[in-house]
Amino acid sequence: MKRAVKSDLKSLILSELQEQLRNLGEPSYRAGQITDWLYKKRVDTIDEMTNLPQPLRKRLSETFSLGKIDAIRVLGARDTTMKFLFRLADGNLIESVLIPASPASRDYGSGRSDRRTICVSTQVGCAYGCKFCASGLEGFSRNLSANEIVDQLIAVERATGETIDNIVFMGMGEPLANLENVLQAIRIINAEWGLGIGARHITISTSGLAPQIRKLAEERLQIRLAVSLHGATDEVRNRIMPINRRYNIETLLSACDYYKARKKQRLSFEYILIADVNDSDDQARLLSRHAHRLSAKVNLIPYNSVSGLPWTRPSEKRQEKFLSILRGDGIPVTLRREKGHDIDAACGQLRLQTEREALAGG
Ligand code: SAH
Ligand code: SF4
Repeated sequence: MKRAVKSDLKSLILSELQEQLRNLGEPSYRAGQITDWLYKKRVDTIDEMTNLPQPLRKRLSETFSLGKIDAIRVLGARDTTMKFLFRLADGNLIESVLIPASPASRDYGSGRSDRRTICVSTQVGCAYGCKFCASGLEGFSRNLSANEIVDQLIAVERATGETIDNIVFMGMGEPLANLENVLQAIRIINAEWGLGIGARHITISTSGLAPQIRKLAEERLQIRLAVSLHGATDEVRNRIMPINRRYNIETLLSACDYYKARKKQRLSFEYILIADVNDSDDQARLLSRHAHRLSAKVNLIPYNSVSGLPWTRPSEKRQEKFLSILRGDGIPVTLRREKGHDIDAACGQLRLQTEREALAGG
């Protein structure tokens, strides 16, 4: 079947590119030259691939597109969290966050002081509508293509002149609802011929799509999985995460059991602390039990308030108490002293703010 839309060069893996070149009657080593231009030299146009014969460049331009995303707003400073708002070719807005390492930014890597983590988006908006999240507020528009995911890294590295060591799929969208494109992007990000980031430095976060967790368990890539739990009982989870009505905690945890049985990587639970919603001692004890069952690590995140939403973070005293219950049970647990609070680091907020300003004529 012939596709109406040209596929983007940055959404193909090397072997697919080799096959496409053979179809064009070209030797397959050209594919390696192309990935070199795309991911090592990082050119923006096919025309700049000067070791390819001119007729081939022309054929490639006719056959493929080569997209680019533009940063329209950058917030933050080099030594703190930086936030990037990108406009896609069709005008949609997405965001990425660059988080420098420091003792306060805890895990995601070895703790070396030069680690930089990028938080990328996987969809425009999100269909899952968690009650506390800015990304879900305006509903779902579309999936990102593999090249739009890869381009977030390339654009941020270019804008900052820095190399990214870790990638977390914790920006806008639900990665497991766009699994094919996310996996394709990860293949490109992970490959030696691509961006060369090790699988252990790549983390997918999910709100709990149990069947897709099982599917991911079948993948050979040793990427990490973070499960956004945010509630230790169905009662609490139902209140803030509509997905829980489709896949309740037991269904989710048993998918996690399956994942754990098939993977060497340790799972982690993300748990946002929201005052008077999920921060009781009882929730802490039950969370501890779930973590124990899965040998999972727990990351506690004080809630970042979102304008227009009623939720707030618990007092520091309450946060510490919650932490101490898990710690007392021997669960590996961290409490994030949030960075970037001042620039609305929680996902989806910059886009929301920009769209609201545009609506208000600002
Ligand atoms: N859809 C996926 C990945 C994107 S959300 C998921 O839900 O896991 C990434 C993380 O940011 C999730 O753990 C999410 O719950 C959290 N998050 C969303 N809004 C937040 C806020 N206002 N404050 C703190 N964390 C938030
Ligand atoms: Fe979507 Fe994740 Fe936000 Fe829930 S927390 S609305 S799944 S992006």
